[in-house]
Amino acid sequence: MIIAIASGKGGTGKTTISTNLALTLARQGRSVQLLDCDVEEPNCHIFVRPEIHSSRKVDVRFPRVIEERCTGCGVCASVCEYSAIIVVKGKVLIFPELCHGCGGCSLFCPEKALEEAGRSVGIVEQGVAGTLGFVHGLLDIGELATPAVIREVKRSVGESDIVIVDSPPGTSCPVIESVKDADFVLLVTEPTPFGLNDLKIAVEMVRALGIPFSVAVNRCDIGDEAVRGYCRDEGIAIVLNIPDDRRIAEAYSRGEMIIDAVEEYKGLFEELWQTISNRHCRDQEQETPSREMV
Ligand code: SF4
Ligand code: SF4
Repeated sequence: MIIAIASGKGGTGKTTISTNLALTLARQGRSVQLLDCDVEEPNCHIFVRPEIHSSRKVDVRFPRVIEERCTGCGVCASVCEYSAIIVVKGKVLIFPELCHGCGGCSLFCPEKALEEAGRSVGIVEQGVAGTLGFVHGLLDIGELATPAVIREVKRSVGESDIVIVDSPPGTSCPVIESVKDADFVLLVTEPTPFGLNDLKIAVEMVRALGIPFSVAVNRCDIGDEAVRGYCRDEGIAIVLNIPDDRRIAEAYSRGEMIIDAVEEYKGLFEELWQTISNRHCRDQEQETPSREMV
């Protein structure tokens, strides 16, 4: 079962939930893998402290012009969605840092005047934290090929029964790449106007993808009732409430897990798992045409 932890904005507690849930389940003897797909700013490793045992580069393909064949027709530039290739006065200019390596320009070039070369955009590291399998990606500074690194992180999924994916914040391409194969998405938010606004966008995203989802409210005792009211009106289940507890913030600042630092929260993530797995089983049994969970 693949569970993606996502949120419409950063700083809502995604990593706290991902790491504490993953370690809770691993310590109970379950077969679990944690994937940190927030490759622009991965930080799960700070909390789970894995031993890294392998590292590999992530390459993307980008085009190179074979000058003697090129006629300057401009087809390649019209094909590129990312403005990574332009044609000026019959001369082809390529911007590799904008290229997403889709191969469209090479495919459509009528003269077969584009060949593909490789470019390193980041690395993927793999290891273990006790019995917990761990993978994270690190995008090179200044690179834009975030989805390519995320794809490579996801290729490292092994035989584990449960995979927890810490997604990047927001609702753009990297997030969709992270969550699109998930069986369940947990959307993390805070009960504030900004939290509500970003939650609504994130809900639209998972509904469009047709993935079952629920909501976790972090710092649930601050702000107002608008998030709860929205979830109630939309029929969305809130399956986790984490209070605004100074001990949690202090543990986070020391790079410690909540389940290790604050005794009373040990059961919180086991309960979360029970709720999610029950909902997942129920959803599979019903197997309704729409996978949306309300
Ligand atoms: S499509 Fe091919 S031939 Fe046309 S400008 Fe681009 S590289 Fe040159
Ligand atoms: S490979 Fe794709 S993204 Fe890169 S230049 Fe060609 S069309 Fe654009």
